[in-house]
Amino acid sequence: MATDPIIEVRDLDMAFPVRGGQGGKTVIQQVLHKLNFDIAPGETLGLVGESGSGKSTAGRILVGLYEPTGGSVKLFGQSITGAQRRLGLAAVRSRLQFVFQDPHAALNPRMRVGESIAEPIAIAGGRTRRERTDRVRELLEMVGLPRDGAERFPHEFSGGQRQRIVIARALALQPGFIVCDEPVSALDVSIQAQIVNLLMDLQQKFGLSYLFIAHDLAVVRAIAHRVAVLYAGSIVEIAPKDELYSDPRHPYTRALLDAVPRADPERVRGPVLGGEVPSLLAPPPGCRFHTRCPHVMPRCRIDIPELRVTAPGRHVACHLHA
Ligand code: SF4
Repeated sequence: MATDPIIEVRDLDMAFPVRGGQGGKTVIQQVLHKLNFDIAPGETLGLVGESGSGKSTAGRILVGLYEPTGGSVKLFGQSITGAQRRLGLAAVRSRLQFVFQDPHAALNPRMRVGESIAEPIAIAGGRTRRERTDRVRELLEMVGLPRDGAERFPHEFSGGQRQRIVIARALALQPGFIVCDEPVSALDVSIQAQIVNLLMDLQQKFGLSYLFIAHDLAVVRAIAHRVAVLYAGSIVEIAPKDELYSDPRHPYTRALLDAVPRADPERVRGPVLGGEVPSLLAPPPGCRFHTRCPHVMPRCRIDIPELRVTAPGRHVACHLHA
């Protein structure tokens, strides 16, 4: 795998003003705090965490849907944040795509499937109607659907087939990077595996990079090369997939993995994680996990742990690993 990253995220912050203070005052909700990660060509980075941890916000920033409030993001060497945002996004627009959770909402029910897939090609220009039709048929075949599916409407397909259509549309302009935000969580388990296998096949074929956002650790394990664990808007651990699943180092990662049900009565489980993700309107000082951590120490309530390298390729934000 090449080492030069195609995605470089540095000290990424995202805050939203929300009504929630005393007397209905507007207060700032810090959704993401100093995120740092890279994604290499042909690599899948899994991004996991409980709901409300900021996973989807990070994905939306990477495809240009949100403008972050701090830090920088470079895609394919182009900055898409700060003063260069508009120019940078225009330069990389066709090379980044997203696949979201609900394929039903992603497709216009009144448009034939072929029209939906051809839409980004028509907007990009440069192809005749005939060429667009041929490309749509080729894309349908690529995602395992019949070529004549182009004439049908989304409701004539199953949920899994609709997600294949969304993937075909995402591939229309030959992107290099796709944000997949919970792309299989709305599907039956047997269909989930088919879609994950399709994404992996397409990655092999076209050298795609993915940010794969999911709360299901088993799905992430199947597809990711590396995994980043997000807690209350901060990355607490990044590691190669096998190392993270066999030897989780952050107490939160351990708790997440212990919470995965397994048919193994002999297995010794760690303590069950109590409490909830803290409110981002008033996050706890120091380590944001200290209100739930079984290893909390006095300094954890004061000092924010930095994400440090603890071994080659392994990063952990915890005072136990300082
Ligand atoms: Fe637990 Fe302290 Fe590590 Fe936070 S820094 S995870 S509270 S031990």
